[in-house]
Amino acid sequence: MAVKPLIAGNWKMNGGGGAGIALARAIAERAPEVAGRCDLLVCPPAVALAAVAETLAGSAVAVGGQDCHGQSSGAHTGDISAPMLAEAGASFVITGHSERRGDHFEGNALVRDKSAAAHDAGLIAVICIGETAAQRDGGQVFAVLSEQIAGSLPQGTTAANTVVAYEPVWAIGTGRTPTAAEIAEAHAHIRAEIARIAAGAADLRLLYGGSVNPENAAELLSVDNVNGALIGGASLDAGSFLAIALAAS
Ligand code: PEP
Repeated sequence: MAVKPLIAGNWKMNGGGGAGIALARAIAERAPEVAGRCDLLVCPPAVALAAVAETLAGSAVAVGGQDCHGQSSGAHTGDISAPMLAEAGASFVITGHSERRGDHFEGNALVRDKSAAAHDAGLIAVICIGETAAQRDGGQVFAVLSEQIAGSLPQGTTAANTVVAYEPVWAIGTGRTPTAAEIAEAHAHIRAEIARIAAGAADLRLLYGGSVNPENAAELLSVDNVNGALIGGASLDAGSFLAIALAAS
């Protein structure tokens, strides 16, 4: 069975309030152009999520959170739970993004708990993994990916409740990307590792993320075992985001 690509935009700390609504509206207007080709997802900041979800209601564009807590409620000042995201209109949530792993010292066990919480709330977890430049230079890519997969994917992971995004940390926001061959070997390794612990690994969507743009999208999206993209900077412009989606098939 062919896996339908997912083109996901991570707006990070951009697109709150009116700017997020305007961006969502612009994407929704053009979403029919990619119908049948790929699924679309946008992940706005938490404060804009409900408004963006309302703007996108009835469109083919899904909404996701950028992070969630590992518990469903409690005394956790400033945090947001997976059920809260679901109630606000999300059907996905990103977990383990390298900016969370780096800025907030999130390790694999915490990412696993957050992803399990996402599953419990009925959300699809977009679990991010990827090596640093030092790890790549040290020849540790496969070992790092294996450790992140074993540590971050919760029990009960399936192709229906999980997407895994391979995002080399050194490629995020830098304009640098791995070669197609490097992505192919990383994704083949990731799929094989997931198959050791999860059912239906062949159908689980593996996204590539890191400096995807309209110019390189066709090449990156055609690599074996790449089932879509997680996009940061280029997802903040509706034209660029849709151009990337049009390169998926
Ligand atoms: C990201 O942060 O998930 C990402 C892929 O960012 P960019 O596309 O800007 O490299």
